[in-house]
Amino acid sequence: MTRWDETFDVIVVGAGFAGLTAAIEARNAGARVVVLEKMKAPGGNSIISDGGVAAAGTPLQKQHGIEDSPELFYNDMLQAGLGLNHPGLLRVLTQNAAEAFRWSEEYLGVEYMDRVDRFGGHSVNRCYAAAGITGATIIRAMLKKIKELGIPLRKSTCLEKIIFDGERVTGLSVREGYNYKDPEAGTIKNLQADSGVIVTTGGFGADVAFRAVQDPRLTGKIDTTNKIFATGEALVEAMRLGAAPVQLSHIQLGAWTSPDEKGFGSGPLFADYIGFLYGIIVHPDTGKRFVNEQADRKVLGDAILSVGRPSVCISDHGAVEHSGWDISRALKKKVVKTFETVEGLAGHYGLPADALSQTITEFNRAVASGVDVEYGRPILHDSMPIKRPPFYAMRLWPKVHYTMGGLQINEEARVIDLDHRPIPGLYAAGEVTGGVHGACRLGSCAITDCLVFGRIAGKNAAG
Ligand SMILES: Cc1cc2nc3c(=O)[nH]c(=O)nc-3n(C[C@H](O)[C@H](O)[C@H](O)COP(=O)(O)OP(=O)(O)OC[C@H]3O[C@@H](n4cnc5c(N)ncnc54)[C@H](O)[C@@H]3O)c2cc1C
Repeated sequence: MTRWDETFDVIVVGAGFAGLTAAIEARNAGARVVVLEKMKAPGGNSIISDGGVAAAGTPLQKQHGIEDSPELFYNDMLQAGLGLNHPGLLRVLTQNAAEAFRWSEEYLGVEYMDRVDRFGGHSVNRCYAAAGITGATIIRAMLKKIKELGIPLRKSTCLEKIIFDGERVTGLSVREGYNYKDPEAGTIKNLQADSGVIVTTGGFGADVAFRAVQDPRLTGKIDTTNKIFATGEALVEAMRLGAAPVQLSHIQLGAWTSPDEKGFGSGPLFADYIGFLYGIIVHPDTGKRFVNEQADRKVLGDAILSVGRPSVCISDHGAVEHSGWDISRALKKKVVKTFETVEGLAGHYGLPADALSQTITEFNRAVASGVDVEYGRPILHDSMPIKRPPFYAMRLWPKVHYTMGGLQINEEARVIDLDHRPIPGLYAAGEVTGGVHGACRLGSCAITDCLVFGRIAGKNAAG
């Protein structure tokens, strides 16, 4: 018999978007809830994210004259996911995204910018940016709500063991006073969960040992955009209990990162929001394009990695101005550099100048004709030629960004065991789960995933 130190209805493990969302919904369904977080501060990777959320059929799209539907959203995610997405989960995400987005705006009070963006693989503009282009805007609103609802948030408390009584998950062994620099520090406590445990511990992008087993290319030589705590121990503990893992080797590389700074950094705002939409990516040896710059992250990341050394993303002042984004941080850090001439740019990066000029001429021709014959890149209605100095450039080298695989869940966010049955009392949501994105997650769809399945997990765990 387990001796319990404390009892709750629902215990949520992990204080990122998925966990805080689940806790709010469980509390609103009448449960006594606690949120556990192993680090000294809440927020997870969520707080350092760009805060981009994707949803189809929103009032903001209507205001901007954009036609979209959950069906089109479903098809885009399925295509990027190479058809490996679990259809039931994908259906739930795409059909509930607009409502989850509305909930974040109206119930949580998250402020979004008045613009609708489009990233590689989405066939229309359907990505919304939280104010300040940061997940911190959303986390702040969630923490405010958690406080309002009187939900305790226990920091420095790490899940060590999931307790199963032979029939259902009844609680957890946790380490209070956890310190990642000294994992044996602190004291063990047993917390009982009368209704359910929700695992929302995020991905394992920073867990080099675990990720390199799943994808041997991803050794410690490849950097990550994730925080150091994005490790797999909670996922492994659930697997020890018999939870089924799905698609663990599908690990996403961010294609818009720079080798000239650590982590996510300042460069992606230029590359993803400007360079890939209006500019080009060129091969460091030939000065030629080699990929559709608006392809999804898998196609782009694999293509850039296969070159063996950093490629160069190039755009012009017209595009930077038109985009409206402030890239001063990347310029100040010299991650993005400016050049008065194409020759000067070529000289700096060791690109063959004539070939680069030719590449730009051919790209500008494609923009004028509206068709990119070579790489099949969609020419957007506001595409423009690369011609106005200064020219902007950034070196690109992929970093581990997101883990598509994780715990198998069903449409009710219940964790599934190796015999395809739900494990009673165990729920999961967010990046710790797998299946919904298949082989490749599209930009802005992770936060949508956290919101949609976090809400479902919270309601269901409350019973
Ligand atoms: C730099 C960056 C930018 C991104 N930008 C976007 C974007 O704009 N749009 C988008 O859709 N996606 C984006 N993503 C992806 C997205 O942010 C994440 O997938 C999402 O925030 C994950 O949320 P989560 O709640 O599942 O996990 P997290 O936010 O990572 O939270 C998990 C929490 O669980 C805690 N935890 C882990 N193990 C334990 C344990 N054993 N015990 C107790 N606590 C534990 C962790 O410390 C962490 O705080 C970005 C990711 C990064 C890294």
